[in-house]
Amino acid sequence: MDYSPNPDHEAIVEAVDKVCAQFDDAYWSRCDAEHEFPWDFYAAMAEGGWVGIAIPEEYGGGGQGIMEGALVLNRIAASGAAMNGSTAVHLTMFGLNPVVKFGNDQLKDTFLPRAAAGDLHVAFGVTEPDAGTDTSRITTRAVEDGMGGWIVSGRKIWSSKALESEVCLLLARTDGEPGEGFGGLTLFLVDLDEEYCDIAAIPKVGRNAVASCEVAYDELPVEGWRMVGERGRGFHHILHGLNPERILLAGMACGIGEAALRKAVGYANEREVFGRRIGANQAISHPLAKAHIELNAAWQVMKEAAWRYDNGLECGEHANSAKYLAAEASYFAADQAMQTHGGLGYASEYHVERYWREARLQRIAPVSQEMTLNYIAQNVMGLPRSY
Ligand SMILES: Cc1cc2nc3c(=O)[nH]c(=O)nc-3n(C[C@H](O)[C@H](O)[C@H](O)COP(=O)(O)OP(=O)(O)OC[C@H]3O[C@@H](n4cnc5c(N)ncnc54)[C@H](O)[C@@H]3O)c2cc1C
Repeated sequence: MDYSPNPDHEAIVEAVDKVCAQFDDAYWSRCDAEHEFPWDFYAAMAEGGWVGIAIPEEYGGGGQGIMEGALVLNRIAASGAAMNGSTAVHLTMFGLNPVVKFGNDQLKDTFLPRAAAGDLHVAFGVTEPDAGTDTSRITTRAVEDGMGGWIVSGRKIWSSKALESEVCLLLARTDGEPGEGFGGLTLFLVDLDEEYCDIAAIPKVGRNAVASCEVAYDELPVEGWRMVGERGRGFHHILHGLNPERILLAGMACGIGEAALRKAVGYANEREVFGRRIGANQAISHPLAKAHIELNAAWQVMKEAAWRYDNGLECGEHANSAKYLAAEASYFAADQAMQTHGGLGYASEYHVERYWREARLQRIAPVSQEMTLNYIAQNVMGLPRSY
């Protein structure tokens, strides 16, 4: 790895920071409070070419790697947009990766140029009421229609951005029974056609500008060419995208931590209690310094994971470690930022409660901290599998 300054990365940081500066904390608080998707912000990011940064150049994208994607998401989150901003773009930015890797030409030619232009919103439908961590339990079925196509029925939960999205990358069962392993699962890029899909937002703690939804599929017709990759290999195709997703998540998490620390340091330098600034108390300054160190450490591991992925090296250990470290560091930083603000930390006006609600999510989704630890225990350390 090269630790010297990278002019390309510095240019990305400068340009994305400039776009994000147009959308202040008040904008994000309003989107969050009103549960309103940040359309203006999305349009500005698309116009700058940032939404298509990871799509191959032959389809009109930026052809950049995961490191650059993580950098973009990090700067969005660090601006104060947190996950309301970063997850507004990341599914289009990277959600179509299985299509890039395994999709047929018709799928790629039809959808990737529109994704690269920021003109295609994409949702991701894996989780179901009885199949979260254990994906082998998926019951949503795709059955052949006898004419080369498929009919999909079932219920997904937590499909983020389903209300805004035209298409959804959907994992459905084409063969076998729930709990029999992963072999019967197949990936499709389906239309979220309201005639056959009933979509409802799930009320939740935070990141309220980007709704996550329950989606009921009622005999949705899907043409044969909308299958992504091979029948029965859907879980394998999604697995391919899990490491990059963890790396991107780590980039976002570090950004939320940065935003929280910026607010905390500002407040600790200003607020006077007992006739002195609260930042002079080590009970305030030491946790903030610790958060700074931990965020830096997580960022370094994230960079190594991204570098390994972009150079075609095995990166499971690093991607899982980065996701784990960044989620912990981000939440610790947000929690300390709230503590530093005292009672005002709990007031919406100071924004740290919004960061805190969003940082908490990182420890649960898209993969829980427990599952990253399971990965390291089993695959890196050779401990027995717990499930
Ligand atoms: C805001 C939000 C957005 C989301 N967006 C999407 C999306 O766009 N698309 C999508 O498909 N999904 C999405 N998800 C779902 C998310 O990926 C799941 O919530 C997550 O994978 C955990 O699954 P679960 O909620 O079913 O938890 P469960 O599987 O019920 O697990 C519950 C708890 O038990 C723990 N646990 C289970 N088994 C073990 C074990 N063997 N060892 C140790 N601990 C274990 C888990 O870590 C977890 O803490 C989203 C979730 C949220 C909250």
